[in-house]
Amino acid sequence: MEIIRKEMKLCMSCMEEHEVEIVRRSECSVYKGEEVDYEAVYEYCDRTQEYLEMEDMISQNDIAMKNAYRRKKGLLTTEDILAIRRKYNISQSDLAKMLGCGEKTITRYESHQIQDVVYDKMLKKIDTDPEWFLTLLKESRGSMALKAYERYYINAANILRGQKDDYLRKSILAQYAEYIDNEDYCGNKEPDLDVVVDTVNYLARRVQELYLVKLVKLMWYADALSFKRYDHSITGLAYQKMPMGTVPIAYQSIIQLEGINYEEIEFDNGGIGLKFHDSGRIGSGLTDDNKKILDDVIRDCGNISRRKIVERIHGEKAYMETCENRVIPYHLAKDLSLA
Ligand SMILES: [Zn+2]
Repeated sequence: MEIIRKEMKLCMSCMEEHEVEIVRRSECSVYKGEEVDYEAVYEYCDRTQEYLEMEDMISQNDIAMKNAYRRKKGLLTTEDILAIRRKYNISQSDLAKMLGCGEKTITRYESHQIQDVVYDKMLKKIDTDPEWFLTLLKESRGSMALKAYERYYINAANILRGQKDDYLRKSILAQYAEYIDNEDYCGNKEPDLDVVVDTVNYLARRVQELYLVKLVKLMWYADALSFKRYDHSITGLAYQKMPMGTVPIAYQSIIQLEGINYEEIEFDNGGIGLKFHDSGRIGSGLTDDNKKILDDVIRDCGNISRRKIVERIHGEKAYMETCENRVIPYHLAKDLSLA
């Protein structure tokens, strides 16, 4: 038995005014043929040694007992259901409409009524699958207020985007698994994708006409210069030697990260270029040293033509001494043409 608090009041057990203890104790009941253990709350009179269950406690203890039953059966508890609803910021009645059950059903599920297995499964699916939430939401658009619908939609779309970004980040880091342990490949730093996003935006904000070809070269120059000065790269990315220059491993996935913005531009010759824009994301991943390096790289290479920057990289010792398609070792950056 655990005392939660004490209250001076008229005790309904001995019918005298004194300090009554509010206590929590373990209970065991049988519900629907299942033995369940849970914590129940009572008032305790130390004079009569009696436990009293007040009106609100009866209700609270019943929910605690049913949540123990739900847990035992692998069903969502009242708190779980509430958490799902909070995640999507949706009202009980609108969620009920989406699931196609009675308007008060969710209200009851969040208290004394044990949910049907079918609705339990639907709620679990909604929890992990915002795309499905959006599908159900669209289907019940006509049955809820437009303002509420729009709010739910934007919120769920954001959750979905975040989920996709998490997946993308995991897949990028998986592609780095074989390089991470080699400090010479990632420049004494583990890949930091927040810093990568900040770096791209920092460059996009300051360099006019920033296309992919130039972007990845400026990134390499910045990482290499940071290694030359401080023995560690800025982003932790590993770069491959390609005919046109230096390209980060997994760059196709990296440019899809949340917070990186680009548009496809069609050239007169029919080719397509990716032009990067500042997404407005104010990142705090860059240190003052990082920014100084980026500024120096922009000053030296930010406004030269694509042909010039390719030529310049081709002349770097780090580039020349690395085999085609191999990762450029950071230690070669010590002889970088930038100081
Ligand atoms: Zn008493």
